[in-house]
Amino acid sequence: MKSISIQLICINGFNSSGGVLPQQLNLKIMKKTVLITGASSGFGREAVKLFQQHGWNVIASMRSPEKETELTKLNNVMLSRLDVTDKASIQNTVEKGIGQFGKIDVLVNNAGYGSMGALEAASGEMVRRQFDVNLFGLIEVTKAVLPIMRQNKYGVIINISSMGGRVTYPFSSLYHATKFAVEGLTESLQYELNPFGINLKIVEPGGYQTDFAGRSLAPFGAGSLTDYQPAFDQFIAKLTTWPMSKSISEVAEAIYEAATDGSEKLRYPVGADAVQIVQARHQMDDAAFKNMIVSQMAE
Ligand code: NAP
Repeated sequence: MKSISIQLICINGFNSSGGVLPQQLNLKIMKKTVLITGASSGFGREAVKLFQQHGWNVIASMRSPEKETELTKLNNVMLSRLDVTDKASIQNTVEKGIGQFGKIDVLVNNAGYGSMGALEAASGEMVRRQFDVNLFGLIEVTKAVLPIMRQNKYGVIINISSMGGRVTYPFSSLYHATKFAVEGLTESLQYELNPFGINLKIVEPGGYQTDFAGRSLAPFGAGSLTDYQPAFDQFIAKLTTWPMSKSISEVAEAIYEAATDGSEKLRYPVGADAVQIVQARHQMDDAAFKNMIVSQMAE
């Protein structure tokens, strides 16, 4: 029904029952709509601006939209409170977004944080929280947008993984576990969703200077397990000198490319570090790769 009225709107500005639809709503439905999680900072925020500049409707979701002052000024950007661990906020955002823009064409599952420390020192709550946000939250948001995408026989779901979804570093086992899971989940979903015209994409950034290494890092370290402390300290020292790129827009560009290239390409590594390390991983066996990481940490 919706697609019929859209065609008629394009031709003469009337809907199928003969009434004039508001011009603004016509334009909004004809435009593409993207829902982005974790839009308060970093890649999510940059992606909101880029899609908006390209004329998209954007549902910019974040945990605390009341704090936002810049994105509120952009045309066709709807702010919505969404915590990926709160199902009601997900459902509410999806309903509000469809109410305002008529559909959701693209979902960018971006919200996430990094838990770091010795696994043995992690409390059950820390373990669950990392999975609740980076994996189970992503699954809930995905499930919430699938009905409208299936109905429209169109959609692109872009999951923000990491180079840490392909290779591993010390003291990051929980983070890697979630990002490796995101990779497997996304890859498998292609089989069941492609027949409905829904494409899956994985964006794998290297190190970028967002808030990730600041407020989005949850270093629980070694706790009282002093055996791990020297190695953890060495890892943190290495991490603080890691050359993080300032070009956050590269990641937003990759997200936009994944949303619009219409290809079956699944993975988009972004940044020289991500490209190089993923290539190296392919060329080395498990032991050789592990030894390379161990020697990098000791440098
Ligand atoms: P960021 O600037 O810290 O952004 C993280 C975003 O996630 C924030 O908007 C944060 O919202 C949101 N978030 C955290 N928990 C949430 C929850 N429960 N519900 C909804 N939103 C939540 O870091 P970023 O670098 O842009 O990170 C974005 C994604 O890129 C993450 O998935 C991360 O794993 C991935 N990544 C980052 C890097 C990097 O080097 N920066 C590299 C590879 C992958 P609040 O403002 O409410 O805290």
